[in-house]
Amino acid sequence: MGWNNPAGHNGGDPGSVESWLISAGRDRRPGSPLNVPPCLASNFVLGDRRAYSRDDGTPGWEALEEIVGGLEGGSAVSFASGMAGIAAIFDQLPTDSVVALPDDCYQGVAGLAEAGERRGRWKVHRLAVADTARWVEMCGAADLIWLESPSNPLLAVAELDVICAAPRKSGAILGVDNTFATPLNQRPLTLGADVSVQSVTKFIGGHSDLLCGVVTVRDARLLAALRMARELGGATPGTLETFLAVRGVRTLAVRLERAQSNAMTLAERLGRHANITLTRYPGLASHPTHDAARRQLKGFGTIISFDVRADAAAADAVCSEVRLIHHATSLGAVESTIERRAGIPGQEHLPPTLLRLSVGIEAVEDLWSDLDRALRNVGGTRD
Ligand SMILES: *Cc1c(COP(=O)(O)O)cnc(C)c1O
Repeated sequence: MGWNNPAGHNGGDPGSVESWLISAGRDRRPGSPLNVPPCLASNFVLGDRRAYSRDDGTPGWEALEEIVGGLEGGSAVSFASGMAGIAAIFDQLPTDSVVALPDDCYQGVAGLAEAGERRGRWKVHRLAVADTARWVEMCGAADLIWLESPSNPLLAVAELDVICAAPRKSGAILGVDNTFATPLNQRPLTLGADVSVQSVTKFIGGHSDLLCGVVTVRDARLLAALRMARELGGATPGTLETFLAVRGVRTLAVRLERAQSNAMTLAERLGRHANITLTRYPGLASHPTHDAARRQLKGFGTIISFDVRADAAAADAVCSEVRLIHHATSLGAVESTIERRAGIPGQEHLPPTLLRLSVGIEAVEDLWSDLDRALRNVGGTRD
């Protein structure tokens, strides 16, 4: 095809990740643009392999799929959003299936699972992320084992290595939402998972300017089924969105390295702050699943969640006091964002004062001054 793809299309070993991020998904033929340009076309002149883009894709989708597929170690299918990809996986389940779901996970996935259960599509079991024995047991009974690690927003790390190796019911699918780890910190397919999902909206895109998702698998039948689900369900990625996602993913390694280093510094300081009662970050030795995180994650990620002393109003005040950090939802972008998660409909079960901080790539001392000032002010010790 002319791609610079030393690892073989979509699924080989990407070798050095940093170089793969820069070199994959390009057309090296003489005269080709260095970046695959947005192809604004629904239909193509008949006679070649593309007729209609919902069925046959665009060069831009393929570039993104090649890059992310190589990172995850499988064949990738891009979707309109992370949720569109996850819905396509749930849609594979036969009626009367059993779904094992983490007790802490992305609220959209919990909502999707609950809606399907209400309609009698499947039965859902919610398991504690760290209860490995229970997950292993459910591997033998469930049709879909859905893991998210680290989890949102409590940042619990599942023992994926143990769970992915457990015997599964025949035909079962084990999927991992790998959004928080990114494929740079964790590659579930190499541990034996069937599916790894990225909400490209987050770290892969990295700039809060698009919605997109990528599902990566190794099994050829599952790959064909997911492509068919996209074609028939119509949740295709946007042309501009995939162009921006490819542009964004080029810098993933440097963004992640910087944001992770910022996050570690902030987590240590937040952990000692007088106006914080609990700091959750997988990189802290005090974190309940720190051992699993050390074993499985190359880096501890950029998300921290912490509980503000006092009440929800005090936590809300921190969000309105910050000046550099944005009071906004979502995560994984260059800019830092903060949000009180229990304030979101469906998330009322969370600690009322829990703030989720997505650490960006700003100067760490500026982030710290911003947080420290906002926290001191709500503590009533305004200076
Ligand atoms: C954002 C997110 C999703 C959903 O992705 P969208 O692109 O918003 O549809 C799924 N899982 C996790 C962990 C997320 O953070």
